[in-house]
Amino acid sequence: MLSNQYSITAVKQIINAQGDIVTDDLISILLTDSRRINIAAEGLFFALSGRRNGHEFIAEAYAAGVRNFVVKQGPEIKLPGANFLIVDDVLSALQKLAQHHRSRFNLDVIGITGSNGKTIVKEWLYQLMAVDKNIVRNPKSYNSQIGVPLSVWQINDRNNLGIFEAGISLPGEMDNLEAIIKPNIGILTHLGTAHDEGFENTREKVLEKLKLFKNCKLLIHNYDQLLDYKKDIANLKTFTWSRNFKQADLYVFSETIIKRNYYLRARFDGKEIECLIPFLDEASIENAIVCWATLLYLGYPSAEADKRLERLNPVSMRLELKTGINDCSVIDDSYNSDIQSLEIALNFLNQQNQHKKKTLVLSDIFQSGLQEDVLYKQVAELIRSKKVDKFIGVGEALVKHQDYFEPPEKFFYKDTTELLNSLLALGFKSETILIKGSRSFEFERVSRALVQKTHETVMEINLNAMLNNLNYYKSKLKPGVKLMAMVKAFSYGSGTFELANMLQYNKVDYLAVAYTDEGISLRQAGITMPIMILNAEQSAFDKLIEFKLEPVIFSFGLFDDFIKYAQQNDITNYPVHLKIDTGMHRLGFEPFEIETLCDLLEENKYVRILSMFSHLAASEAAKHDEFTQTQISRFEKAAKKIEKCLGYKVIKHLSNTSGITRWPSAQFDMVRLGIGLYGIDAAVPADDSALQPITSLKTSVSQVKKIAAGDTIGYGRNGVMPKDGKIATVRIGYADGYLRAFGNGVGNMLVNGVVVPTIGNVSMDMCMIDVSAVDVKEGDEVIVFNEQHRIEELASQIGTIPYEILTNISQRVKRVYFYE
Ligand SMILES: *Cc1c(COP(=O)(O)O)cnc(C)c1O
Repeated sequence: MLSNQYSITAVKQIINAQGDIVTDDLISILLTDSRRINIAAEGLFFALSGRRNGHEFIAEAYAAGVRNFVVKQGPEIKLPGANFLIVDDVLSALQKLAQHHRSRFNLDVIGITGSNGKTIVKEWLYQLMAVDKNIVRNPKSYNSQIGVPLSVWQINDRNNLGIFEAGISLPGEMDNLEAIIKPNIGILTHLGTAHDEGFENTREKVLEKLKLFKNCKLLIHNYDQLLDYKKDIANLKTFTWSRNFKQADLYVFSETIIKRNYYLRARFDGKEIECLIPFLDEASIENAIVCWATLLYLGYPSAEADKRLERLNPVSMRLELKTGINDCSVIDDSYNSDIQSLEIALNFLNQQNQHKKKTLVLSDIFQSGLQEDVLYKQVAELIRSKKVDKFIGVGEALVKHQDYFEPPEKFFYKDTTELLNSLLALGFKSETILIKGSRSFEFERVSRALVQKTHETVMEINLNAMLNNLNYYKSKLKPGVKLMAMVKAFSYGSGTFELANMLQYNKVDYLAVAYTDEGISLRQAGITMPIMILNAEQSAFDKLIEFKLEPVIFSFGLFDDFIKYAQQNDITNYPVHLKIDTGMHRLGFEPFEIETLCDLLEENKYVRILSMFSHLAASEAAKHDEFTQTQISRFEKAAKKIEKCLGYKVIKHLSNTSGITRWPSAQFDMVRLGIGLYGIDAAVPADDSALQPITSLKTSVSQVKKIAAGDTIGYGRNGVMPKDGKIATVRIGYADGYLRAFGNGVGNMLVNGVVVPTIGNVSMDMCMIDVSAVDVKEGDEVIVFNEQHRIEELASQIGTIPYEILTNISQRVKRVYFYE
């Protein structure tokens, strides 16, 4: 048996499960997500019940060919040929199995934790040591209670070093992770305030993190950070670094910038040593010093450590989805390449439905620790299972092994330049292209050639954050309550199919948009889930039906028009939704109209009422709670009447975002989640990290000018320089959605960490900010809003609401979606 193969009988014993074994299968792959099953043979599916009930997905996994399951209860239906291992706690069974696996290997394992920098330090240590060590590590930042066991499961006979990061958010979690990782060398990275909310105080959080090191022979840490914890780590041997304390093992005493590199000098082992790192930002410098200390502790000569650190590459865990040329979408992951991250990127490619054709541009993969033919066979199998239509391989190894690959179309080039010279001939059109390359292939050149040119103002949309927000609201729902996501108005300014794909993939029940056109674009981009149209126009009924969109009927006029249309076109039982006005007074049937409506509905074969709903006018505001309660009662009454006359049940829904947060009693059968999905909820304090803003708006400085006191700035001479200083002109104006109201110091922006006011009027395409107090140069990034510089604050500066700011950002501002 290979080192990662176990018989199912052995697994049963290891995790201490009940249940009968039908056939003694071999398993080697652990599966936790039924949507992502590539290779079912030898797969063991863990039905984790988190927010989504894992057991609902057993059927899906079985259909994909999986025959081995770890579950809390046996399945309700019979699934022939399947083994079910029954346990009390599925997650803990997964952890036990990984723990057992880890215990079979006797290798050095570095365990990393901290608040920031875990993934960077892990990836950098990998970059630094992969030439002389066979390293196993977490893919991306798989550092959770589920991610860690899946990562540790990858250890095999050939590895001689493991580097695993552990992330926690609650007390009591670290012991589990420690037992799985069993590190013998510990690294503590930067401690910040992230994730404090799960803990009583900072001390409790730090002590929890330190539990990762309880069995380590040594801990590498910043001397300054643990001054208050000396007693707590008294029985651990340590290797410390510091920029302030001479007694640290690595004492950094001099730091200077030389030609955009950072030059450090330090005292180590009684000698003066030096090192140059290719980064200037504070976080990178600190992470690089941690890596430096680790190399020195591990015995690398200081000159060798310096040589390697000088060649560190930035780590990007991001997959960026951008608009490409010729109606293509481009997923840019051009900074690293290994088989695990390739699999993650291919999953993301497969989530995209906007184009039928899926294309992969891949470079040779280095430092995999596998023999070339084994590696490329695995890669070929992965690409086959992910149904890539067009494969473009770049690099000598891929050229050599091209026969392994059998997609419908394939092309091979020995290097990136050769690929770029053939780009036109490859005829990219209406396809989704994943670009994935090792650093040395400089695939950013390929990405630049395939992505639409953008002006430098971009809105970034964080798909992970959206998923987080979705799960937050799902967790507030009672069992069985459905969720409709409101993606009207270009998804509150954040995009169309890009977000809808994500929502469809994550099994939201319904989408809603305002107008028929919006629904059509979603259909054309491959969205197949039900879509409700809030404001269907009579002129668009043809399209409505052609694209299977479901209209809201809110008035007798519209009802009449639709019925007539259905009659003329022989349409029966068409799904529609009814809107009741319970007090918003915008659209909908009034309570007194319900009887008449019922009369019309009773005899009607043309439509079928799928749902009925109403909209709360002030669900977020405590001072209107009495009114909200009235709306709820009116809705209940109307619903009773309508269901009675229809003679069947319909889906009833009332709550918008703040309704979900504040009115658990008003969930009915479904809720309509809008702005909360985008990270904003008037009923959740902005500093509550349960919700994450998903958008940030960034621009850049086009020019910096020195201005004397009293000089005026911009149109109308409204801005007057208060004292001698400087201004920066930035590439955003009211045509981009940065409203004129923000001018003359009302609005502010974030430049190199400093908040600065606007000065003078906002122009159409640009505006000026007073940067007298900041170190800035042309080309520097300027944040209009992001997670720190909140959109709620911007909205209040000009007396509006975040909804309006978001939906005002013009289409000229390119959207970039990223997924980490
Ligand atoms: C926009 C909209 C919502 C969502 O409201 P949020 O406050 O953004 O959650 C819900 N229902 C209807 C009818 C809407 O038009």
